[in-house]
Amino acid sequence: MKSWKTVGFGTYWRRAIVALGALYVLLGLGWAYVEISRGTPLSNVMVISFFVAGPGMIVLYGGYRLPETEINPKFYSRIMGWCLGGIGVLTGLLTLYHLQPAASISSPGRAILIISAFVLVPSFAGGVNDARAKSNAFVLERTVDLLHKSERIANVGGWEIDPDTMEAYWTQHLFEILGRSWDEEPSVDEVLDVYHEDDRSIIENAIEAALEEGAPFDVEGRFHTPAGEVRWLRIQGVPEIVGDDVVSLRGAAQDITERKEHEQELQRVRERMEFALNATDAVVWDWNVEANEASFYPSAESLYGTTVENWEDFIEIIHPEDRQKVQQTIEKSLETGEPKHEEIRIVRNGETRWIEAPGHPVEDNDGSTRMVGVARDVTDRKTYELKLEESNERLEQFAYAASHDLQEPLRMVSSYLQLIESRADDELTAETEEFLEFAVDGADRMRHMIDGLLAYSRVETQGEPLEPVDLTEVVADVQANLEMRLTESDAYVEVDELPRVLGDENQLHQVFQNLLSNAIEYSGDEPPRVQISAERNSSMWEVSVQDEGIGIEPDAQDRIFEVFQRLHSRDDHEGSGIGLALCERIIERHGGEIGVESEPGEGSTFSLTLPAAHDHE
Ligand code: ADP
Repeated sequence: MKSWKTVGFGTYWRRAIVALGALYVLLGLGWAYVEISRGTPLSNVMVISFFVAGPGMIVLYGGYRLPETEINPKFYSRIMGWCLGGIGVLTGLLTLYHLQPAASISSPGRAILIISAFVLVPSFAGGVNDARAKSNAFVLERTVDLLHKSERIANVGGWEIDPDTMEAYWTQHLFEILGRSWDEEPSVDEVLDVYHEDDRSIIENAIEAALEEGAPFDVEGRFHTPAGEVRWLRIQGVPEIVGDDVVSLRGAAQDITERKEHEQELQRVRERMEFALNATDAVVWDWNVEANEASFYPSAESLYGTTVENWEDFIEIIHPEDRQKVQQTIEKSLETGEPKHEEIRIVRNGETRWIEAPGHPVEDNDGSTRMVGVARDVTDRKTYELKLEESNERLEQFAYAASHDLQEPLRMVSSYLQLIESRADDELTAETEEFLEFAVDGADRMRHMIDGLLAYSRVETQGEPLEPVDLTEVVADVQANLEMRLTESDAYVEVDELPRVLGDENQLHQVFQNLLSNAIEYSGDEPPRVQISAERNSSMWEVSVQDEGIGIEPDAQDRIFEVFQRLHSRDDHEGSGIGLALCERIIERHGGEIGVESEPGEGSTFSLTLPAAHDHE
């Protein structure tokens, strides 16, 4: 039995009912007292007072026990209504009767009391019945309402099939999900028509198996809405079995179109990822840091030659010399939340191979941390890079050694030529003297070239570490160095505000010295006009040296950066042809690029990029 917590006015109505019962008890007892004191025999008094106080007791007790019934307190007022109604009707009837002259009652008060007490109990019982019926109807109505609302919220409909008649019952919301109206009760065959031709058999078979074998089912199928849309429905059914028979088959149906669409999108993403992974021979890895569980897609074996389930397995296959580095990179990435990118060596079946394994930390919904990334075998590229590096180094050593060793014999040639010139001064014909001059000049030029080559071969090996450098200072120094030439040529140099960059000061000095002296050298007939400016481009600065000189033919613009490439004869312009090659090499060492834009006769702009120095440096 349900026990109601009395709330609202219900409490007062119950008290009123109890009070009514109590009133009759008191009236019964009080009346007995009066009668006895008047001398009426006790037995007479007892019977009459019992008829009044008895019903009072019943109502009092009944009212007191009301909360233990299933009656909702909001309907207690109806019980009181019935009681008062019963008393009222009888009192009215008696009064009418009494007023008839022929039939006056000898003691109307007493009559009313006794007769209303008689009617009190059936009235009370009638009220209780009425209130109970109302309570039940109320509960039912509320339950149905709640069912409809929760069906709608969960987007789930309910259904039932009667195995005898093969008729289907649908809840209101199932009609809504399927987009049908709910004035017709469908038969099972009609229900099947709602579904997509290709999926109908799935549902039909599931229902058949449930009816024949009592097997519950959970299937998914597409259905057509009246508007012609195709949507997805999940249908679950549980047959009710009594003895050997299926007596009914109930279930739920849910519109899962959105979930299906997500699944399909996920599938497409997966296919694309698989394609990308296959095409690049890459593996996706996912390491749950707290649980220390690693998973790989498509598999760890394809890349590592063995299974990898956790961090320890992974560290095991790393080349011993790279283990510490791997550990540190991961720790740093987890600490800062920044992605990591590294190339490391692994030992696969006894063979050392290079892998590239970028990754980044991700915070899961549950607060745990994962590292997710890809990994790829880059042994071929790495081997090639290492070879290239080696051969570059060898070439550099060769250029350095050659230019260094050539200096000594050249110095000998120069000094002996000078010796001949001074000793045999008088005996020389004008022609021999000219030949000697050519020889001295040639040796001079060769010395310049060898010096240039030596400087060129030393860019990588003899450079200083990159540090913040103020370009304003560098350019001011260069201007001071070139002061004589600037004054002689009547040059005008405009220097905008220049940034601080990360660089080797000495080398940057060489770069600007070459660019500025070229701008003076190739200025044409007018006095040189040069502008040096800078522009920020994300983490790099682009610095431009612009002149209004003779310019460079488009097809020569790439060539001028090559060693010993010159566009002019020595008679027109002095120079060794190594300046721009040296500039390019230096800028490349700084991780930047150099290029030229030029129009013959209009001028040239040499632009170079350099990494910006961080503000705190
Ligand atoms: P060098 O100046 O010693 O000949 P560089 O490598 O500095 O060698 O320059 C190569 C060639 O590029 C020069 O010979 C010249 O023809 C051309 N060049 C360089 N700077 C300029 C410039 N500002 N304007 C026109 N031509 C230039």
